[in-house]
Amino acid sequence: MSIKVSNLTHIYMPKSPFEKIALNNVSLEINQGEFVALIGHTGSGKSTLIQHLNGLLQATSGEIFIDDKNITEKGAKLTDIRKKVGLVFQYPEYQLFEETIAKDIAFGPSNLGLNQEEISQRVRRAMEMVGLDYDKYKEKSPFELSGGQKRRVAIAGVVAMEPKVLILDEPTAGLDPKGRDEILEQIVKLHDEYGMTIILVSHSMEDVAKVAERVIVMNGGEIILDESPKNVFKEIGTLENVGLAVPQVTYLVKELKSKGFELGDDIFTISQAKEALLKILKRD
Ligand code: ADP
Repeated sequence: MSIKVSNLTHIYMPKSPFEKIALNNVSLEINQGEFVALIGHTGSGKSTLIQHLNGLLQATSGEIFIDDKNITEKGAKLTDIRKKVGLVFQYPEYQLFEETIAKDIAFGPSNLGLNQEEISQRVRRAMEMVGLDYDKYKEKSPFELSGGQKRRVAIAGVVAMEPKVLILDEPTAGLDPKGRDEILEQIVKLHDEYGMTIILVSHSMEDVAKVAERVIVMNGGEIILDESPKNVFKEIGTLENVGLAVPQVTYLVKELKSKGFELGDDIFTISQAKEALLKILKRD
């Protein structure tokens, strides 16, 4: 399973005064099992790119291969693509509509023409995968839940399609710190325990530093960096030039280093900083 994007260009409202080149000749490859973060300032093309990966938007030019199958070809079946690539939109809980959680999660699988037994099993599995107890929650209304739990139900609805690749657009946006950490933990679990390829669109450099193995940085419809978090967060100047920042703790570490503290170049999370500082304190 891999995603291969080759010279993808997307132009909104072409040949009109509002024409906008949202993606400009983008190429990239993502392999099975990767955990990729996609970052970039608002308007840099992230949403446009991810909507191509499950066939929601059509390329103006270029090709996209999912599992060696060209999905930009005429006649490519969208249901086949969506079985493989699941997309969780921003604030997905706004799209919950059924009277019970189980029915809501069953909506996608029901459209795949599966039998009732298989649908129920998928709902149960999806709920377990996002950390919701099936028996406790299945008959509850999604509207009785907290913000973080509602979002889990919405994610479970996509997970129930059992995609190999899960794309999440700002999955922690608008949640309190506890809700953010819980959702992030669940996403890490989907990757580590269930082997899903994850593409995480995020504005939070802290989240990205915590979980991603690879970071793709977009600006003006192009990919400007595609590296490990360590190599991307070294590029403070480049990131700041395109309206991004590095994790806050990186600035603190930089300041401490300038004051003579012996700290490494690979500290991007609070827990890494804590460990490194405690080591120095113990040594002294
Ligand atoms: P991001 O997700 O990084 O914020 P988008 O992919 O939403 O970026 O947008 C890329 C560019 O395309 C922006 O300039 C945006 O204004 C424009 N754009 C996005 N959606 C549309 C649309 N439906 N019609 C016209 N222009 C759009």
